[in-house]
Amino acid sequence: MIGIVIVSHSRKLSDGLKEMADAMTQAPVPIASAGGIDDPDNPLGTDAVRVQEAARSVMSDDGVLIFTDIGSAKLSADMAIDLLDDTERARVRHCDAPLVEGVLAAAVQSAAGGSMDAVMREASGNILLQHNFRDSVSREFVIKNRLGLHARPAAMFVEAMNKFSGEIRLINLSKGKPAANAKSINGVMLSEVSGNDRVRLVASPAEAEAVFAEMDRLLTANFGEADIASAGLKVTEVASPQLVEGQLTGVSITQGFATAPLQHVCRELPKVTLTQIDDVESEIARFDEALASSEAEIKALLSGKEDSISANDQKIFDAHIAYLHDPDITTRVHDGIANKQVCAAAIWRQVIDELYETYADLKDPVLAARAADILDVGQRVLRLLLGQNEPRVFDSPVILAYDELRPSEVLALSDTRVLGVCAASGGKTSHAGILGSTLSIPVVFAFGEALQAVPDGREVLLDGAAGLLKIAPDPQEVAAMQVKREAWQKRRAQAEAIRFDPAITTDGHKVRVAVNMASMDELGLVENSGAEEVGLLRTEFLFMRRDKAPTETEQFEIYKRIVETLDGKPLTIRTTDIGGDKPVLYLDRLPETNPNLGWRGIRHSLDVPALFEVQLAAILRASAYGPVRIMFPLVSTLDEVHAACASVEQVKTRLKTQGLVFGDAVEIGVMIEVPAAAEMADILASQVDFFSIGTNDLTQYVMAADRANPKVQNLFDPFNPAVLRMVRKSIDAAHRAGIWIGMCGAMAGSPLAAPVLVGMGLDEFSMAPADIPEFKLTLTGLDRGACRGLADEVLDMTSAAAVRARITEFIG
Ligand code: PEP
Ligand code: MG
Repeated sequence: MIGIVIVSHSRKLSDGLKEMADAMTQAPVPIASAGGIDDPDNPLGTDAVRVQEAARSVMSDDGVLIFTDIGSAKLSADMAIDLLDDTERARVRHCDAPLVEGVLAAAVQSAAGGSMDAVMREASGNILLQHNFRDSVSREFVIKNRLGLHARPAAMFVEAMNKFSGEIRLINLSKGKPAANAKSINGVMLSEVSGNDRVRLVASPAEAEAVFAEMDRLLTANFGEADIASAGLKVTEVASPQLVEGQLTGVSITQGFATAPLQHVCRELPKVTLTQIDDVESEIARFDEALASSEAEIKALLSGKEDSISANDQKIFDAHIAYLHDPDITTRVHDGIANKQVCAAAIWRQVIDELYETYADLKDPVLAARAADILDVGQRVLRLLLGQNEPRVFDSPVILAYDELRPSEVLALSDTRVLGVCAASGGKTSHAGILGSTLSIPVVFAFGEALQAVPDGREVLLDGAAGLLKIAPDPQEVAAMQVKREAWQKRRAQAEAIRFDPAITTDGHKVRVAVNMASMDELGLVENSGAEEVGLLRTEFLFMRRDKAPTETEQFEIYKRIVETLDGKPLTIRTTDIGGDKPVLYLDRLPETNPNLGWRGIRHSLDVPALFEVQLAAILRASAYGPVRIMFPLVSTLDEVHAACASVEQVKTRLKTQGLVFGDAVEIGVMIEVPAAAEMADILASQVDFFSIGTNDLTQYVMAADRANPKVQNLFDPFNPAVLRMVRKSIDAAHRAGIWIGMCGAMAGSPLAAPVLVGMGLDEFSMAPADIPEFKLTLTGLDRGACRGLADEVLDMTSAAAVRARITEFIG
């Protein structure tokens, strides 16, 4: 049976509650009362030692739940748990449920033989019967975004809930979590809401409808998450930390080579001396000031990073700032200072330690990874409270080793003497991983605990691309690594130096290098990418992070802004490719068995003319401000091209009658993404001005291999000769019809693909901004004649592996 400990400031209250609980249960449930303190003059309070003894007195293998009343009772309970030995501690949990209702419900469930989870759930579920919520209204929702309420969506949710004045609770029904304060980022995150979890929102009758409407809006907008499977987001990181012959293997975050002494970054939270204070008010004010200064520091670190970190990735810090404003956390600290009359640093340190442990123990790896965010925020505030300076200046080159790199530390890694970074934990999708991928030094995570054992000052070799750390290299290995590093640096510098140059092969043939864009957040990156045009603007983004379709004016303003920013460089606007792996929830889509073979791209647009024509009108109007092209996605038939072109003409007529201007030379193109389009490319070519090959989808459809399914990634390979033959066929058809052809699938940015595609005669390569320098450098080393021979050769090969091997040999 689960034991129960009642911790109240009043011994009378905890004894009385025990009496009630005993009376309600048939079987004798082990319940211990741990109220008050042993001070006859001042009996109200809580005592950690007493709680510890109480927990021991009701301890069995089944476990113990501790219930607390207000403020410092929780701190005492947590301290008591700390005082227990490891075996005992593993059996004890603290339940946030309100004391009276929680204890009574838990006692009944424990008497019935319920497990720890069942008792906890029962105690927490009773929230609706609580006094505060007796008159409240609640509604259930299912969270649809794939990763649930992890940091960014949680920050968005909390911000939305904070617009209401009354109390709002969030209960994760799927996981049987206690009711959390919906205005607290911490409460929401610890509710561990994953994709498809059922949650209940509880609000006052006056605000409930508005709260639920707001929740509907957030759900429809998918909490600002695109959930695009093709973004390659992996929820879990599979690291294989091993020590093999003096070398560790981790997860590569960036490429590059470095050799230097390893230096561990020791930033355990500083020790805090428990100092008694007299002036509670000014200590609370000092704490609030530290929170405000922390926010200002985070904002200052972010400023000027627009070109390297997209606005979306910068939102990672919204969650950090939300922690600084979290009412539950600040109240805990304020109460702690007031009740114990000790310094803010001591209370803050304790709260952060507790939060860290809680996050680190979470089962969901995405949420558990937020423990690093807690330490990041925690350390910053603590440093300010203790009046310490921002750490670290290095006087000689180092490779830094962290247990786990924290997001704001990535922003601060600008010291040129830091040649590389490794970490024991973390992954590509951790916040530090996302931000770390923008660094131009080798970064490798997830080396495991073995990293900690490498002594400070030991010379190491770090190979970013291979994710390797060599621990005791001999002098020859160090020398060889130096050579690789110099070659890599030289190549990077060369690539950077030609970022803005035209891409011309050794025999003088120029190809056009364009950039792909998927959100306004990327405008800064696009401007500085070195591309001569935008080869693909994925306009789905305009429809995805919101709850209704954007109007003609909204779209027009956005397209116009991009056109004006590009200042004469062409902008290829792809009409929406909604559907497939990019659903837009508010568009009333029916579930499809095979969404990728279903109602997406141009099929959807032609069936919803109201939406399509609004978009075409906005694009055409933007074309009055600079060169604009229109491109249709997922075309499979000539009829679709006719229908889409007819819509363009119809919209032009409408605009003329409205007296609205548009450019007179808007090129129209189609994407070659479906095998039918590649096969019929000669026919389609007669109807349009250009083609752009979408190898992401083309590969998926040629190989019948879902681009987002890791199980079939061996088949999903654009280097497969079957895909290359389709590419060749499309290029030949375009050229025979006298139109140009580009490529905007991921293959276009691959340096390995460049010689084959140049050999086939591709005119334009459109890629991610980060791919441009290396692509240009590769291209400038190619001879078109030799590339033509290579292209012919690989088309006759029998596998993707053979093609890759041959190109690698060709590049040399
Ligand atoms: C493609 O399919 O290659 C392409 C560029 O389109 P998307 O990745 O947006 O489907
Ligand atoms: Mg596509």
